[in-house]
Amino acid sequence: MSTDYDAIVIGSGIGGLTCGALLAHKGLRVAVLERHGRIGGYAQEFSRDKFVFDSSVHSVSMANDGFVCGLLNQLGIRDRLAIVPNTCTALVRSPGFTYSLPANLDDLTRCLCSDFPHEKESVCALLDDMQRLFHQYKGNFATGGETMSGRSGTIAEVTRSYKDYIRSFVSDERLRCLLGSIWPFGGSSPAYAPFYNAFIFIAHALEGSHSIKGGFALLARALAEAITSRGGEVRTRWPVRAFRIGDAGVVAAAVSDRGEELTAATFVSNVSPYLLHGQLIPEPFRNRLWQKRLAKLSPSVSAVSVYLGLDGDPAAIAKDNLTFWFASMDHDAIYRRIQSGPSGDIDHLLVMHPPGSAGGGCITLMHFVKQRPGIVWREEKKRIADAMVKKAASVLGDFTAGIRVCEVASPDTFERYTGNTAGALYGFENTHNLYGQSKLPFTTYLPNLFQVGHWTKAGGGIYNVMSSGYVAASIILHQ
Ligand SMILES: Cc1cc2nc3c(=O)[nH]c(=O)nc-3n(C[C@H](O)[C@H](O)[C@H](O)COP(=O)(O)OP(=O)(O)OC[C@H]3O[C@@H](n4cnc5c(N)ncnc54)[C@H](O)[C@@H]3O)c2cc1C
Repeated sequence: MSTDYDAIVIGSGIGGLTCGALLAHKGLRVAVLERHGRIGGYAQEFSRDKFVFDSSVHSVSMANDGFVCGLLNQLGIRDRLAIVPNTCTALVRSPGFTYSLPANLDDLTRCLCSDFPHEKESVCALLDDMQRLFHQYKGNFATGGETMSGRSGTIAEVTRSYKDYIRSFVSDERLRCLLGSIWPFGGSSPAYAPFYNAFIFIAHALEGSHSIKGGFALLARALAEAITSRGGEVRTRWPVRAFRIGDAGVVAAAVSDRGEELTAATFVSNVSPYLLHGQLIPEPFRNRLWQKRLAKLSPSVSAVSVYLGLDGDPAAIAKDNLTFWFASMDHDAIYRRIQSGPSGDIDHLLVMHPPGSAGGGCITLMHFVKQRPGIVWREEKKRIADAMVKKAASVLGDFTAGIRVCEVASPDTFERYTGNTAGALYGFENTHNLYGQSKLPFTTYLPNLFQVGHWTKAGGGIYNVMSSGYVAASIILHQ
């Protein structure tokens, strides 16, 4: 039967666009349907006065010979992006503790071995093991991603926390805390995060920490061009309200709010699974086991983000592009406090600005919060934002006189713009327990419906969602 397209992708996040671009590259007629007026999902920009802010993304491992650039090369769009290195993976700060984590393996090994000489052998063994995991993970791309969460080995091994993993190599408590301090990249602290957080840590050493001059919205645009230049379409303001299910229980069409229908042989969802399995798939076709599974998983942390437009160079305020400040190095206590609800006490703060002139006077402060029923974010976010700016001024030196623009986003803002349930930054909570690790697969119970993006394996972050797009496209092309 003839269809409008070979493949329809619902949602234009980086995961959806990557999958769509790879399918178009292989000759499929692709359409991406985006409900918003702009593409990119979280990879988005907005302007206020002369300031152009990246709404979310500040650091992605994008070395020339790494996975992301390999994919961009394959799609012929690498040259459209000016990829610039960040100064380091993160400058970790806590009272009485400051450490810049280098974003390359040689410097990282040298610094850790010279600053923790009594742990030299353990550091080398740990970094070796992390590299082994990294290559195992990347090898998994070729196997359709079935073990992309590191799910090979005994249950006890694969459900180990990142904290236990670190402890199995390192004894020095300060070093353990330092190695744990990359937890904001995955959203769960070391005792709760899976041992596979080691991948996040070592990816920054092996493939660096980078930004894109002009912002990550340009990555979305480049991927979209890779689709349209091959005859595909990227339609904005096309909210998918439901699927029409045809004979034999396959998805036949995406139906918009306005009742328009587009048909395809294959459908790829890049949207929250709570929306997909609770709304888009019509009730009689929903699968109870999946509903149960969804109920056992929970969305990741969200955030209050404060976007500041400043007179002058943000590097004069925070030298490094990413500063992670913690009130104490007890990361798990901070994470537990986040789960219990927002407080006036700012016990952690991320301070980020793009490298060099790409910054244009913009600096972003981020503080994790968890969405909860009953919180009126319109009011709450102001209170938290004020406390964040005050805390930043006390940690970095008072820069507040130079603030020209201040915009604040809350979990409601993130959910409103992207449809991510609870304003989740990273899809599902990144947890080491068995259920948490069993993130949703790329295939679903409907034979021609697939999932990509940060709610699938391997989880949150641009690197991971691009890998999900890659794996889903491979599965679709080889079926
Ligand atoms: C504040 C913040 C900071 C972050 N910092 C970083 C960072 O520094 N580095 C990093 O790697 N990651 C970072 N992340 C995480 C990263 O941005 C996400 O994990 C990633 O962008 C998610 O991509 P995705 O493909 O899952 O799609 P999403 O970005 O979630 O996009 C989903 C798209 O689907 C669309 N959609 C939803 N419902 C429908 C519908 N019914 N019909 C049509 N379209 C629909 C939405 O409008 C949206 O465009 C950050 C996230 C946030 C919020």
